[in-house]
Amino acid sequence: MSREQDLSDGLSRVRDRIERGCAEAGRDPGEVTLVVVTKFFPAGDVRLLADLGVGDVAENKHQEAVAKAEELADLGLRWHYVGGLQSNKAAAVGRYAHAVHSLDRAKLLSGLARGAAEQGRELDVLVQVSLDGPDGAGGGDGRAGVDPAEAVALAERAADTEGLRLRGVMAVAPREGDAGEAFARLAVTAAEVRRVVPTATWISAGMSGDLEQALAHGATHLRVGSAVLGPRPSNK
Ligand SMILES: *Cc1c(COP(=O)(O)O)cnc(C)c1O
Repeated sequence: MSREQDLSDGLSRVRDRIERGCAEAGRDPGEVTLVVVTKFFPAGDVRLLADLGVGDVAENKHQEAVAKAEELADLGLRWHYVGGLQSNKAAAVGRYAHAVHSLDRAKLLSGLARGAAEQGRELDVLVQVSLDGPDGAGGGDGRAGVDPAEAVALAERAADTEGLRLRGVMAVAPREGDAGEAFARLAVTAAEVRRVVPTATWISAGMSGDLEQALAHGATHLRVGSAVLGPRPSNK
């Protein structure tokens, strides 16, 4: 089977899951954005995905992201950055990213804003929230993000930064435990953020294994990799 057919099938399966998940949650699929996580896969796959109608793609490493964004600049894709961010790379990420989901400290704000300003545009940012619990109960795997209690303060700082648009919150479910319960906690934090920044309506949650639970708890942006592209080359 051709790679294009593989990707087309993967996309159809994921789109069906989204339709069904929305139906079960009583939600409109039109309010959900599928962001395909293309990390570790070649630029050629991203090009095929664009041909299949994908408009939003995500990467989690700056080097790989910048290379693909440059090579594929003709496609008009929206690039989402979802990985750990070093302060000294923030401006560089701000230059090609349209949305950064992994804002986890105020120190990144000025660099991100500067990079976006150099491109003459505003940058969407989301505060990444840790759902591991105060004692690392979620498996203690060091998944990034601020404590829920700190999310509102960071969101306000981001909203006050010229050139950045604070869009909402992002999280990865803990490796252990019930993803639905974790996403329910994220929804509470999202509502707290929305109370101070009413335009911060995005909830970026849900991956290949838990997108239904995320949809049940209000996710607006799903970050799906392997369910579309297959197992990543590096963890075969
Ligand atoms: C890799 C990654 C994903 C996608 O994971 P899959 O399980 O392959 O869908 C989503 N979010 C983040 C932050 C990632 O790093």
